[in-house]
Amino acid sequence: MKIGVPKEIKNNESRVGMTPAGVLELTKRGYKVFVQSTAGDNSGFLDEDYSASGAELLPTIEDLYAKSDMIVKVKEPIEKEYPLIKEDQVIFTYFHFASNRELTEAMINSKSVCIAYETVQESSGALPLLTPMSEVAGRMAIQQGAKYLEKPVKGKGLLLGGVPGVRPGKVLILGAGTVGIQAAKMAAGLGAQVTIMDVNMDRLRHVNDIMPSHVVTEFSNEYNIRKHLRTHDLVIGAVLNTGAKAPKLITRNMLKEMEPGTVIVDVAVDQGGCIETSRPTSHEDPIYIIDDVVHYCVANMPGAVPHTSTLALTNVTLPYVLKLASGWEAACSEDAILSKGLNIVKGKIVYEAIAEAFGWEE
Ligand code: NAD
Repeated sequence: MKIGVPKEIKNNESRVGMTPAGVLELTKRGYKVFVQSTAGDNSGFLDEDYSASGAELLPTIEDLYAKSDMIVKVKEPIEKEYPLIKEDQVIFTYFHFASNRELTEAMINSKSVCIAYETVQESSGALPLLTPMSEVAGRMAIQQGAKYLEKPVKGKGLLLGGVPGVRPGKVLILGAGTVGIQAAKMAAGLGAQVTIMDVNMDRLRHVNDIMPSHVVTEFSNEYNIRKHLRTHDLVIGAVLNTGAKAPKLITRNMLKEMEPGTVIVDVAVDQGGCIETSRPTSHEDPIYIIDDVVHYCVANMPGAVPHTSTLALTNVTLPYVLKLASGWEAACSEDAILSKGLNIVKGKIVYEAIAEAFGWEE
């Protein structure tokens, strides 16, 4: 099996699908690995590091696709890549087909085998190849929130951790899943007072068990959220109802109850956001202000820390790459978790929710 790692060409994508550590694991098992020159530069992995691990560097993306049996990358292929994908080639990456008809049709026509990171799923329902990005976003939410609380960037001018004799900041976290727990951990570490809310009592029990006493759990409902908006300095949106748009937990009217300079970081913006006034922003222009409340709504937060994000992602993808390297059919029949990643196989949609999304019969 020949495995290819292209340079990502989607706008603003700096991650790479494999690190030199992954190349080493594959080459020592006898597999051939091609890496496109400079593919890892933006994540801090240089061509010479890949070569030293046994990769063969190829100068062009065309060459890389032509020579590889399996492509391991990060983002869905974009239009320029469609004609490069060959029949029977395995493509292992994030696809998010249900929101992209053009991509779905292109992959059906390519007759390739598309295995999507985002649908690899454990029997518990957990999505192990999405979790690391939520972990990055959750931790980053507090870093960004703390920054935008500073006066020169329109915040209320408050140091989240306080100082002796001055109260620390108060952080309200909506959702106690992966993002919410990581955010709570970072905020607590800075010395902030944290309130974390969820509708799932098991989640709240878990948080209550593992967090220090300055992280307080509360059931999520409109009454409780309103009560806390008046007193909290930073609000993190971290809710998810799998497969659905995020519920709007803070309405435009409720912004008036918040103090000027309060910051909202709506991590859930990629699912529509849990604040009525959220709209996606970019790392180049991350914030906007409504009713004196700063909104930070970057839809791809992990993209700002590609070194960390690449390592976190490839830590969890590599074990599956190693399985797929010996043949996708055997790997998927032996591994029920991995087989959930099969989305399109040789011209046929094999993942029900994708066919349903377009109203197509399987
Ligand atoms: P998760 O499933 O682990 O947690 C979501 C939590 O929200 C669950 O515990 C659920 O019970 C809770 N919830 C549902 N309805 C609620 C309500 N009304 N009030 C309070 N809590 C409620 O999901 P996650 O991995 O933590 O992801 C959270 C969101 O962050 C998702 O929308 C995800 O797509 C997004 N995300 C965004 C970025 C980014 O860059 N912006 C990166 C990673 C993840």
